[in-house]
Amino acid sequence: METILVLTHVDETGSTLTKASLEAVTAGVELAGQLSAKLTIGILGPASVEAANAAAGAVAATGARLLAVSGEAFAQPRYATDAAGGEALARAAQASIVLAPGSSRFVRVAAGVAHRLGGFIDTHITALSSNDSVDATRWFYRQRVEAAISREARPWFLLLDAGTHAPFAGEPAAAQVEAVTVTLPPVRTTVEGLRSPMRDAQTIRPDAKLLFVAGAGWTKKQPDGQIHVAVAGELILSFLRLSGASLGSSKSLADQKAEGEESVLPFLSHMNQIGQTGSTPRHAKGLSTCCHGEEPHVVGWRFIGERRAISLDPNCGWTRGKADVVYVADAFQVMAKVNALLEARSS
Ligand SMILES: Cc1cc2nc3c(=O)[nH]c(=O)nc-3n(C[C@H](O)[C@H](O)[C@H](O)COP(=O)(O)OP(=O)(O)OC[C@H]3O[C@@H](n4cnc5c(N)ncnc54)[C@H](O)[C@@H]3O)c2cc1C
Repeated sequence: METILVLTHVDETGSTLTKASLEAVTAGVELAGQLSAKLTIGILGPASVEAANAAAGAVAATGARLLAVSGEAFAQPRYATDAAGGEALARAAQASIVLAPGSSRFVRVAAGVAHRLGGFIDTHITALSSNDSVDATRWFYRQRVEAAISREARPWFLLLDAGTHAPFAGEPAAAQVEAVTVTLPPVRTTVEGLRSPMRDAQTIRPDAKLLFVAGAGWTKKQPDGQIHVAVAGELILSFLRLSGASLGSSKSLADQKAEGEESVLPFLSHMNQIGQTGSTPRHAKGLSTCCHGEEPHVVGWRFIGERRAISLDPNCGWTRGKADVVYVADAFQVMAKVNALLEARSS
């Protein structure tokens, strides 16, 4: 019989589980229900047992056994301590299947933890199901081929892609975690602080409901024969500020910056690129602007729920069945109007 551990970690507050951790909890509850398996939730990272109890309150309604590795040494993500903590939680739970969010914190250590336990790991898991065996689903070849993986080997670690499960939302309740003690490994890395970009500079927002994609058309000659890149930049940044959307880009637009041309949007980088050679984010809705909608770009929209596009070209790729709604219109005009409406609503 399987024993399932959901490995979770707290966010920067130190006493709240991350959204991706709560998504993994949902996956664990569902799989444990299907297998009639024992479910344990392990929490890594609170600075104290009190903080661990506070974090555990959000998942107390699962009825799962609750374990935590807490203490100042675990409050900062760091390979040596996170790997030791994850190993201790997996051993304490005697887990045969370990589910964990594919967060940067766990992606860094999960393979090492699996190795220490003599186990196997698969990453980028999007769905789990069980009949006679446990099947884990993931995508290959830039999200074009979907595979169902099954393994005999245990323990089996599965890192789940964010956005593939609803975050667990049971009634919060008082919880008492079982503290798992860890013999601290030699620690060479000292975390001195965090440096992050200004909030306005963070244009990639995985939790946003809307993906706003900018295409190369924003930097092309417009019907008046002129280029209006400064106006384009203002329109795009205003929309991001007013809507909270995440910013994506076509390759053609992202490449312009890399090649050092003058007419470029300075807040864009290849990190924003969507598509075959870019990313495949998950958002409920997407709005494409000044982008032609070619297949190598649109393949990155696979996990966007509802797709809309604004293009001057009535024969663009979007109009050929790739978008739910296409506005054949000038994106400069449309976005100026949309921003004015959003501004009026927020004031
Ligand atoms: C191997 C390979 C991998 C690739 N990987 C990717 C990838 O990962 N991501 C990606 O994006 N591309 C990728 N590409 C490139 C892709 O095929 C396209 O060349 C690219 O997506 C085109 O970008 P675009 O639509 O922004 O630009 P363009 O094709 O130049 O289209 C600009 C559009 O803007 C419209 N427009 C102009 N002004 C306005 C206005 N005022 N209002 C509304 N619309 C306007 C025009 O009508 C036009 O349709 C790849 C190509 C190859 C060969």
